[in-house]
Amino acid sequence: MQPFEYNANPGRVVFGSGSIKKLPDEVKRLNKSKPLLLSTPQQADQVKALEPILRDASIEPAGLFSEATMHTPTHVTDKALEYTKECGADCVISFGGGSTIGLGKAISIRTGLDHICIPTTYAGSEMTPILGETAEGKKTTRSDPKILPGTVIYDVDFTMTLPASMSATSGVNAIAHAVEALYARNTNPIMTLLALEGTKALAESLPVIVNSPQDADARAKAQYGAWLCAMCLGSVGMALHHKLCHTLGGSFNLPHAETHTIVLPHALAYNAPKIPDAMKKLADVLPGSDGDAIKGLNVLLTKLEVKRGLKDFGMKEDDVDKAVEIAVGNPYWNPREIEKEPLRETIRRCWAGDEAKADL
Ligand code: NAD
Repeated sequence: MQPFEYNANPGRVVFGSGSIKKLPDEVKRLNKSKPLLLSTPQQADQVKALEPILRDASIEPAGLFSEATMHTPTHVTDKALEYTKECGADCVISFGGGSTIGLGKAISIRTGLDHICIPTTYAGSEMTPILGETAEGKKTTRSDPKILPGTVIYDVDFTMTLPASMSATSGVNAIAHAVEALYARNTNPIMTLLALEGTKALAESLPVIVNSPQDADARAKAQYGAWLCAMCLGSVGMALHHKLCHTLGGSFNLPHAETHTIVLPHALAYNAPKIPDAMKKLADVLPGSDGDAIKGLNVLLTKLEVKRGLKDFGMKEDDVDKAVEIAVGNPYWNPREIEKEPLRETIRRCWAGDEAKADL
């Protein structure tokens, strides 16, 4: 066994169908009484379900701010901060996916207010001390233990409304965190356990959800898997896959979860020659892999009926070379050195929507 270092992130998790009823107890546990609720405009109606639950326990929400949006723009954060002050909130509750949780983190790190998260996608931001923000079109990311939310309520009931296609891509986004944790420079045996269990839970449940979005058992299993994968993202460093998605998403305005879904098998194929142990472990938890992790991912993506090419989301063929230049010009750790030609072919395949092959 390789020597390792292990740090556990603090944080409290309340998991299970109906666990939203424990929200008032969680607010009181923090000695708070005036929570500010956060959501996107699309979930403004859904988040209102929290108000009667709080009021029934004599907690009057300080207010509701429903303008969370992708990439956590600082002008939205500034507006939310003003409202936070105005309404006298003493804690924030973010209800939604990574966009809303990002706003909760941005408010919490600036004000010191406690942050309770209620995730409704599988993206995993709730388990990380990472915050990406956009100012004047430029995205910057920082990591600080104080950014990590203190309480997370995973109530599967709120994931039932996540459309099948978004469930698929959001779930593969979660698997990507686990895949990169398996070969992270600072990985450790605990992360490996979480990564494999999380991948297995998602790879088994997502195809069921796509066929039958109201399957409560499959939804619960997916959320459990997403939690484990999120812990991987929050604990160890990511490599080529996440960097590529960041570059592609930021430079060509590509959607977050869909980009992760397309890139994952190709990024793994690029790294495959250098990570035989991770490839074997991953293959063992991917149904239909026949011992080949790339095949296992291809099988999964076929079952999920997701779009496979970045060109489907507006990326141009000329952008392939631009993406290579950006990725090469921005060095980072990866198990395999970044080589321009194989990387170009990796990105070209992502653009074209080819099946991934470990021949790079
Ligand atoms: P999202 O939060 O942008 O949500 C996408 C849309 O789906 C929104 O309109 C949202 O309101 C809606 N939605 C969410 N849950 C729903 C539900 N259950 N039913 C119906 N609609 C629902 O998407 P995301 O993929 O969760 O998050 C992506 C963002 O999060 C990106 O900006 C990404 O960079 C960030 N992120 C950050 C981290 C981190 O650690 N900092 C981790 C993962 C993602």
